Amino acid sequence: MREGLWERAKHAVSEAVFPSNIYCICCGSLIDGTRNYSLCDGCMEKLHWITGRTCDKCGKALPDTYRGKLCYDCMTYEHSFVKGYSCLTYGMYERQLIFDMKYNGKSYLAEKFADILYDRICCEDVDPDGVIPVPVSRRRLRERGYDQSELMAKALGKRWDVPVWTDVLRRKKNTPFLRGYSPAEREEILRGVFSVIPSGIRRIQGKHVMLLDDIYTTGTTADACSRALLEAGAREVSLLTLASGGNRKSNIS
Ligand SMILES: [Zn+2]
Ligand SMILES: [Zn+2]
Repeated sequence: MREGLWERAKHAVSEAVFPSNIYCICCGSLIDGTRNYSLCDGCMEKLHWITGRTCDKCGKALPDTYRGKLCYDCMTYEHSFVKGYSCLTYGMYERQLIFDMKYNGKSYLAEKFADILYDRICCEDVDPDGVIPVPVSRRRLRERGYDQSELMAKALGKRWDVPVWTDVLRRKKNTPFLRGYSPAEREEILRGVFSVIPSGIRRIQGKHVMLLDDIYTTGTTADACSRALLEAGAREVSLLTLASGGNRKSNIS
């Protein structure tokens, strides 16, 4: 069927607002609109897609030579979420992409990331009742003008046909960047930071929640959110992240 004038006009407008099918979202080189996730072939290859062995608990990539079923972190700490899934191993290019979405005003990247997240999760045997993005602090939201986690969650929810609950979990106070702190220090910093708002409690009672975050490292943030959800009555919490750190002590087996 021929594309109507209205469809063409809508497409032209969305391309003007989200010029995502003109340049590669990673390196900026010219591409055509048929490329997956608006990535050029070179960047598709450069990114560290998690396609091999993964940690049974958190979903981060495990090297082929590693014999354990759990990554070092998951053997060391117990997580409150039931299982994690992740799309990419966090490296230089993944870092730049996520940084662009969060701090360089490229909010349209949330749509591309949602495509990546959907392709990762749609083939898994997991059927959550709702998706909840890890809330950002109000101060960061003011600085940025948009909530990248919420944008990503909403775009994912549409593709996956799963409700997105953005008004359930709240971050009660601003916290420093957690990089550089030990897991125990991170846990202390995040103690009591996340809570379920009273009107959100009924919504998650007995429900399976898919928590969504951009980056997964030691899991302290995911655990703090999961605990708050479970304490408020959620049945179980799974975790989906765009990128995750590598296995820290990959030589242990
Ligand atoms: Zn590229
Ligand atoms: Zn793990």
